[in-house]
Amino acid sequence: MSEAKKYGWTGQGLRINLTTGEITKVPTQKDWIGGTALGYKIFWDEVPPKTQAFDEANKIVIAPGPLTGTGAVCSGRTSVTTMYPTTYPIHEIGSAHLGGDLGAKMKYAGYDFIVIEGKAKEPVYVYVNNDDVQIRKANHIWGEGTRRAAALINQETSPTASVTVIGPAGENLLPMSVIINAKSHTGGGIGGVWGSKNLKGLAIDGDQPIHIAADKEEWEKLVNRNKELLGALTQTVVSRYPHPLFEYHSLNSRWSGMPGKQWGAANPPINVPLDTRRLSKMAFRTNAGEFFLGDREWARHVRNNGCFACPIRCYPVIKDTATAAKYNVHPITEQTCGGLLFPIFFYPNLKNHPERNIEIAIVGSQLMDDLGLWCNYGQLQRDMIVMYQDGYWKKLLSKEEYDSLPWKKIDDVDASAMQDFLPRIAYRKGEFGKWLGETTPVMLDHFGIPVKTWSDDHRTLYWSNGHPKHHTNEDDGQLGCVLNCMWNRDPMAHAHVNFTRSGLPIKEMKHIAKVTWGDESAVDQIGDYTPTNTYKMKRLQWVIARTELHNMLGLCSWMAPWEYCPDEKNQYVGDPNMEAKIFSAVTGVNKTGDDLDKDGIRAWMLQRVYTMRQLGSSNMRKDHDLVPGWIYTDPKDRKPFTKGTVRMDPDDINKSFDIFFEQVGCDKETGVPTTDTLKAYRLDFVIPVLQKEGLIK
Ligand code: SF4
Repeated sequence: MSEAKKYGWTGQGLRINLTTGEITKVPTQKDWIGGTALGYKIFWDEVPPKTQAFDEANKIVIAPGPLTGTGAVCSGRTSVTTMYPTTYPIHEIGSAHLGGDLGAKMKYAGYDFIVIEGKAKEPVYVYVNNDDVQIRKANHIWGEGTRRAAALINQETSPTASVTVIGPAGENLLPMSVIINAKSHTGGGIGGVWGSKNLKGLAIDGDQPIHIAADKEEWEKLVNRNKELLGALTQTVVSRYPHPLFEYHSLNSRWSGMPGKQWGAANPPINVPLDTRRLSKMAFRTNAGEFFLGDREWARHVRNNGCFACPIRCYPVIKDTATAAKYNVHPITEQTCGGLLFPIFFYPNLKNHPERNIEIAIVGSQLMDDLGLWCNYGQLQRDMIVMYQDGYWKKLLSKEEYDSLPWKKIDDVDASAMQDFLPRIAYRKGEFGKWLGETTPVMLDHFGIPVKTWSDDHRTLYWSNGHPKHHTNEDDGQLGCVLNCMWNRDPMAHAHVNFTRSGLPIKEMKHIAKVTWGDESAVDQIGDYTPTNTYKMKRLQWVIARTELHNMLGLCSWMAPWEYCPDEKNQYVGDPNMEAKIFSAVTGVNKTGDDLDKDGIRAWMLQRVYTMRQLGSSNMRKDHDLVPGWIYTDPKDRKPFTKGTVRMDPDDINKSFDIFFEQVGCDKETGVPTTDTLKAYRLDFVIPVLQKEGLIK
């Protein structure tokens, strides 16, 4: 092991071939920084573009970033790049992003990235302990749920190892499956890829340092400044309710930790302090459990959990012994966001029994996690329920299968219904179970339902290419719509919606927009949209750059970037260069915010041209960048740009694409990067390949 100091990067990755058992160490291409960018580059270099998700030739690139393991705030995220089984019509390159402690342990074991390739002959798990890397048999663990599988692997390796596993859904090659780290940190859509390689899990332990190039005092000062820029979860920077220490409040805000609230299930219960603005109290700001489940969650709240090096900690730990006894589940649930919220979407009649939301969340999230099932931001629920409400299941399933399903329990809002139908999906039981576990358009194709039926229907929230919408026109008008077409799965981006839902009034947001993107018109009040313009699309380019960049650095996209902050004295203006300052301090490589934005766009562009090769497309606007019909509808038939509607205008959306592609250096008709642009982003090496394949001139 080298004694040289490792500033951010360990300088090496691990390549594990499950077919041959060969384990090698390879140098890190630091020019690509880390995370998704390393993954895209490895795919470009090594994986034929027509490879499909479950082919042996598919690879899995697990990569945090140079900030991971340093203690930089919110730097505990890891990207996992592979061919995505949920994309449509073919499996295209994509990345899952998960938290927990996977990335930090990788770095402490001495690795910037791990490439898994090939396919084991029988179930295995991989154990990495610094230099010692073993492929171990996992026949005795195959078939176990994620909770027990992780516990068994910890028992057999080390109690301090970070363990990531798949559940039965991944073993059964469901596209709608996850990998899961540290109980509840999931990477969606890729459990089946691990399953296709007979890979049950990955355990990592290590005890090597990651160094910081800056001196200690400078580093501490910078980290404290970064903490001052943090709000509550999703970077909301004002309180939820009126509070003596805040100028504004907003019901959008996740800053709900206030006097009078209590972590009621802690032992003894803990009162939320008055001044959660103080850095030492910031973990009290957020209670995602209350945000998604309502005020009654406080009485069940034990504490917050979260990813490595995160002072916000958005995973509520919820204790509910009554629900545990009633449904035979564990009294403790740890989850956040979609995991807590989405199970209720299985119950359209919940409005008649709103008090049942917590038990539904507890039963649903525990079962989904243990089975390793992915709901793809509620798409699973919406598909299942729209198929039910519109009579498709009754028409398409045999009478015997239809009658065996717990429809009455669903109608009656009974959480135990999930204990019946979720295992059917994870184990591919019947037509119902088999096809719900596929991606939406594959299921629709199978049942002979035109995909357009779904993409025109607002209830489904289906977007295109196999994925649902993720913060689109309901959160950021045209910007959200174009953004949702920029990767092959949903964009997993929050830099836009964090800002528009920061809780700040529009006049403050416009001030920040002017300072950051040059003009107030870069942002609109949600639901009071104005026609598109260059500043909105400039902000879009920035959001794309930062989204990719955060996935390269290992930063959490719910908390970064920090162009705004809770500081009313400075009119809430933050520091858009904070990522660059932290990066430079850690690595000793001086970069500005603009430099890093270029790195982000460079990586995004590499995945785009790789996707062109996969689709054989020389016109991405026609073949890839597709928006659904429902964005052009309104329940009250209000016209676009009328206050109160988020309805979009087709010409305006087209114009948004035109402006954006021109700005970023693509041909505006095709959305394909020009050769000059590819050269400017140091992507010269892709030009001859694209030319040879007839995709560019
Ligand atoms: S805010 Fe939540 S997802 Fe982000 S780093 Fe913290 S715990 Fe992880």
